[in-house]
Amino acid sequence: MGSAVYLVLHPEAKQFFPLIVGVSLTFGVMLIIPIGGADMPTVISLLNGYAGLSAAAMGFVLQNKLLIIAGALDGSSGLILSVIMSKAMNRSFTNVLFGAFGQVQAAAAGGAEAKPVHSATAEEAAAILSAANKVVIVPGYGMAVAQAQHKVRELYDILTKKGVEVRFAIHPVAGRMPGHMNVLLAEADIPYDRLIEMDEINGDFPQTDVALVIGANDVTNPAARTDHSSPIYGMPILDVDKAHTVMVIKRSMSPGFAGIDNPLYYLDNTLMLFGDAKQFVGAIVRELSGGH
Ligand code: NDP
Repeated sequence: MGSAVYLVLHPEAKQFFPLIVGVSLTFGVMLIIPIGGADMPTVISLLNGYAGLSAAAMGFVLQNKLLIIAGALDGSSGLILSVIMSKAMNRSFTNVLFGAFGQVQAAAAGGAEAKPVHSATAEEAAAILSAANKVVIVPGYGMAVAQAQHKVRELYDILTKKGVEVRFAIHPVAGRMPGHMNVLLAEADIPYDRLIEMDEINGDFPQTDVALVIGANDVTNPAARTDHSSPIYGMPILDVDKAHTVMVIKRSMSPGFAGIDNPLYYLDNTLMLFGDAKQFVGAIVRELSGGH
């Protein structure tokens, strides 16, 4: 911006023009590269808005009314749409744009502290699941990455056969795009009436014996309910922490998309099942089928 101002004041300093182009290009790439997943459409819409605004600015330079009107329409609709899209995900617009920077800081901060967690083996997890009456499975992005949906289907089948009531809790932004979990579970032929939306299932967690979280993290983070300083404060979450026992399958203590620690993992009623979702669910299924 400084170079642009200088160039306007001193149009003869032509060497500033390539500098502006180079610096803007670098800035643009660095701003966009950390943005991932379904935040991308929001950013694409914003960039469309920018294109409209620059077309409108060009219209003023060329004194072309059509360009001004079309550019203003494109610019304003792009900006409005990107704000609406981020609101639909219950995230602030600045969090969508700059949230990825936080990931690095939070990961670094998370590495410094090592709070104790309870972990369990596939054998122990299988024993807890078969002793339960009501199980709610909470799928998330990690299930998609591991492509564990077919193993999850096997787990559903075997538990149902044992008389355990199994349902799936679907958070609207679990995964990386709207409907991500519904599509994966449908692909694995899990009956659609077993998929329960967040608002409907949240009241049932206190009566649930086991909440089995498979590769979900942010959508189960109780800090969204309790910690005013959390970047996800106010985001509706699945209240898995209210279940009698919570079991979480993930590979490590790494944070999820929002880049923040999850207090769920340190609760007394939470058991961490460390491993790849597909392999761990497969191991539980083997234990359950061999056990009885
Ligand atoms: P998260 O991104 O919060 O967490 C996913 C977890 O999966 C990670 O903590 C990771 O832990 C684990 N994981 C990754 N790979 C594997 C694997 N192979 N096996 C087992 N676990 C694995 O996912 P959620 O679904 O809970 O939340 C979605 C997030 O994405 C929210 O923050 C949401 O706002 C955001 N988002 C969603 C969009 C949507 O439309 N659905 C759009 C844009 C963003 P570890 O590395 O330890 O294994």
